[in-house]
Amino acid sequence: MSVRFVIDALDFVRKAGKRHGKILLSDLDRVQDFLHENSGEIDYWINGDIGQDNKPYLFLRIKGEMNLSCQRCLGSLTQPLAIERSLVLVETEAELIQADEGESVDAMLAVSDMDVQNLIEEEIILSLAISSRHKEGECDIYNPKRYKTIENTDSENPFAALKKLKKV
Ligand SMILES: [Zn+2]
Repeated sequence: MSVRFVIDALDFVRKAGKRHGKILLSDLDRVQDFLHENSGEIDYWINGDIGQDNKPYLFLRIKGEMNLSCQRCLGSLTQPLAIERSLVLVETEAELIQADEGESVDAMLAVSDMDVQNLIEEEIILSLAISSRHKEGECDIYNPKRYKTIENTDSENPFAALKKLKKV
């Protein structure tokens, strides 16, 4: 198990905090359903700083490689992971709503017990939702053996299919 890294978000910015760490893919519970194979680890860098707009920011970088299950054929799909995010910290729900309406920056609530691993996991899931399938022509969806597996499930949702396969 990786050691959880919890920060007081605003304090982290105030102290110009910096941290580089690694997380085992097998420790990211909510990512497991996307993975074909969960060995390996990812690198992350997080630092707190005041942005050019004078507001407190967390800058997050995530790098690594993941062996995903294609959402169409459930076959293996190696996907490099390279995420860079700037998140402006706000202190109230009202500010958060306001920030979400302006489209220029992504905002998050500055909590005093922010679990960095949780944050990273969320960012990875956001990035996976749009990328975890083979390109046309590389996908194994028409492989009759796999197709049969998918056909046997009662839902067209590939995640439901995946969950079902894992339970067996
Ligand atoms: Zn595929």
